[in-house]
Parts: sequence; C-alpha cells; structure tokens
Amino acid sequence: MTATSELVSRCFSCGREGAFDPRDTTCAACGGNQEILHDLPALRRILTREALARRGERSMWRYEELVPLAEGAARPGLIAGWTPLIPAPRLGEACGHRTLLLKDEGRNPSGSLKDRASAAALLGARAAGSPGIIGASTGNAGSSMACLAAEAGVGCSILVPADAPAAKIAQLLAFGARVIPVRGSYDQAFDLCLELSGRLGLYNRSTGVNPLTREGKKTCAFEICEQLDFVSPDWVFVSVGDGNIISGLHKGFTELLALGLIEKTPRLGAVQSSRSNAVAAAVARAGAAPGSPPSIEIEPVHASTRADSISVDLPRDGLAAARAVLESGGCAIEVDDEEILAHIPLVARTSGVFGEPAAVASVAGFAAAVERGLVRPAERAVCVITGNGLKDVASVTKVTGEPRRVPADPAVLEEIYGGG
Ligand SMILES: *Cc1c(COP(=O)(O)O)cnc(C)c1O
Ligand SMILES: [Zn+2]
Repeated sequence: MTATSELVSRCFSCGREGAFDPRDTTCAACGGNQEILHDLPALRRILTREALARRGERSMWRYEELVPLAEGAARPGLIAGWTPLIPAPRLGEACGHRTLLLKDEGRNPSGSLKDRASAAALLGARAAGSPGIIGASTGNAGSSMACLAAEAGVGCSILVPADAPAAKIAQLLAFGARVIPVRGSYDQAFDLCLELSGRLGLYNRSTGVNPLTREGKKTCAFEICEQLDFVSPDWVFVSVGDGNIISGLHKGFTELLALGLIEKTPRLGAVQSSRSNAVAAAVARAGAAPGSPPSIEIEPVHASTRADSISVDLPRDGLAAARAVLESGGCAIEVDDEEILAHIPLVARTSGVFGEPAAVASVAGFAAAVERGLVRPAERAVCVITGNGLKDVASVTKVTGEPRRVPADPAVLEEIYGGG
C-alpha cells in the first residue's frame, strides 16, 4: 500500500525533494515542475504480471497502487482508460512499415486521453479539500475536466482560447463548466488561470503546475505494455504540445521497467507541427551539443498550427518532454500542417479510427520517421491517437472537400454513377 504520506515529489529543474502534498503545485524553491516518486521496490512484490492478470478492473484504476490517492478513494464514476490497442496493418503499409498499432484514446468518456489526467486531478482536488477546480486548456483538457467534474458534482471553471474548435467549447457548455473564452492564446489563458486559482483558492488542473496529470496519463503506457503481454513496443509516437503526455508515457514505461514488468522501454517519437515546435527545437539544440548530460533550454515560439491541441508557445512540461525523448533514445519530428491534415482521412480510411488533427499528427510523424530510416523494418510501433475526430470536423472538410449537393431526383444517379 502506498499511502499519500509515503509519496515524494521531486522537482524536474533543481531536483529538490519533499513529501507530496496534494495542495502542492510547482517547486517551492525554483518554480519548476514536480514529479511524484513511488516506492517501486516495495511495489515490485505486489505488481507482478500474474497479479495484474487476475484483476478484473478494466480502466486506469487497474494500476491503482501507481496512481497517487487512488487507493480506497472515492473515484470518479466515469471510466477512463483501458482503451483498445488496434493492429493497423493497412495504415502501416501506407506508411511503408509492417507492424503498426493504434492506441485509440478517442474512446475515453470525453473523447481524449486527457480523461486519464482529469480523473487523477479530481482525486487531488478532493484530497486538497478545494471548493472547486480551475484549468487552462487548448480545449481537450478543459472539456475532459468539465465532463468528469460534472459526473462527480464538482464545480469547474475552464479558460480556453476563444478560437478553440466549436465542438470542444460545446462540450464545456454542455457539461456545465464555467467557460471563460480568452481572446488570446492558450499561453495567455494559462497565465490568467494561474492568477485566478491563487486568488480564488481553486484547485489548478493546468498542465505542468499539476503533477497529478502526468500520473494519470502514464497509465496509457501501462496499458500498451500489458496489452502486448508485457513485451514493450520498439517505438511509441505521440504528438506534443505542452509535453505532458509524452512525459507521462516515459514515466509509465520507466516505472514498468523498474518493477521488472518489461525488459526495455520503447523509444519515444515526439511529433510536433513545424508551426509549434518548441520541444523539437530544444531537442535539436540539446542533440547538437556534445557531452552528457545534455542541457535543455526550452524557448518559446509563436505557435500557429491548425492542430489546436498542440498549439503551444511555451510548452508547460517542455523540459520533461525533451528529457523523455533523449532518455528513451527516441526522436523529435516536425511535420507540417498539410501533412497532419492529410493523415485524418488516411488513418480513417485504412484503420477505421477517426482522429482529430493533433491525434493523427502522431501517424504523420511516424511516417516521416519511417521514411528517414529511423524506424527499422522489423520494429513494432505504436501511435497514440490522442483525441477523437468529432472534436474538430471543420479540419476534415478542409482536406476532403464538401460533397456536391444534388436534387432529390433519381435522374441524378446517372449523372453521378455514369450511364452504364
Ligand atoms: C493535449 C493533447 C495533446 C498534447 O499533449 P501535451 O501533453 O500537451 O503534449 C495531443 N493531442 C491531443 C488530442 C490532446 O488533447
Ligand atoms: Zn525546483
């Protein structure tokens, strides 16, 4: 059993350690992001492959000992996690590669991987005794928090860029969150949220300042490995905005290795739009400097990608993301927006999975990595489809075009299908 009191949080920037307190946000000494450390040697005896195989729980709570505050807590009623890992041979072939699987996170309650993080954050808000939750979001983190908070009966305020896709704002409104559309960027909404959470005493779910979001997201890595009978894939590709998902995946794989459940961790492919490339640029700079450990400097960019979920000027978990790439022996890949959008129909038509732009960006990056010879032919790759395509339908018709409307007249059939 891992009681909260035994959990330690460690600062990503200065390494300072202290007892984890759910009211904690960033490091008291330097303001850096924190990560939570588990007593893995003790858990090694409990979390065996056999013990996991006996568990009936098919959700992120399957790994409850590894999610802070999850044991014995009143968990959200909505079920996040245990999403399918789908073989996608036709898509793999289209990308020039044999073994490709998709982890379809669009099937979570609000339609994105963010539900894993929101579920973990909800436990944090309860443990902290907060009167409500606040968060800044490009769209999905907010609609996810609103969804889970609605079921739990917890009040929630969400700041989003005013130009977030309509479906994501509609989700916020439907779930009854207090919606604050900020005329500005996600980064501006983020800073405003930080200010408001302090002033109003609300629990801040925003990425980076909240160490629990990574704890929830890492369960995706646990599932990928368990779904492959604990043979870790060679590569996992995922798109990167703030960098919290990839750092969560990295933490998850690293914990499984420490628990003796897998023999190696996969290489991580961080995929960014060339119009929002702060992490990829930092990795390129770190790689350019010889000697170890590499020094990582995250510098802000002017993000303008159409893949709204990964449109970030200053990645809030950029340091952890760049480290995930470098420590896993992976790569950071930039793809342009046209390639990202072209992958919406490609993925849908070859695998049956409909992803939003940021979700299929992982596949666009994978295809680019295959083309550059970074992924070897025999290697097994997983692309994480982070969010459902229904969240941004306007991006679909940008590539497919609109079908021509016709009169309700059988004569039109001849025109469409030809005279034969
Ligand atoms: C949030 C999100 C991402 C990026 O995750 P980060 O932690 O910000 O890097 C990618 N795809 C989708 C669909 C998302 O909602
Ligand atoms: Zn610090």
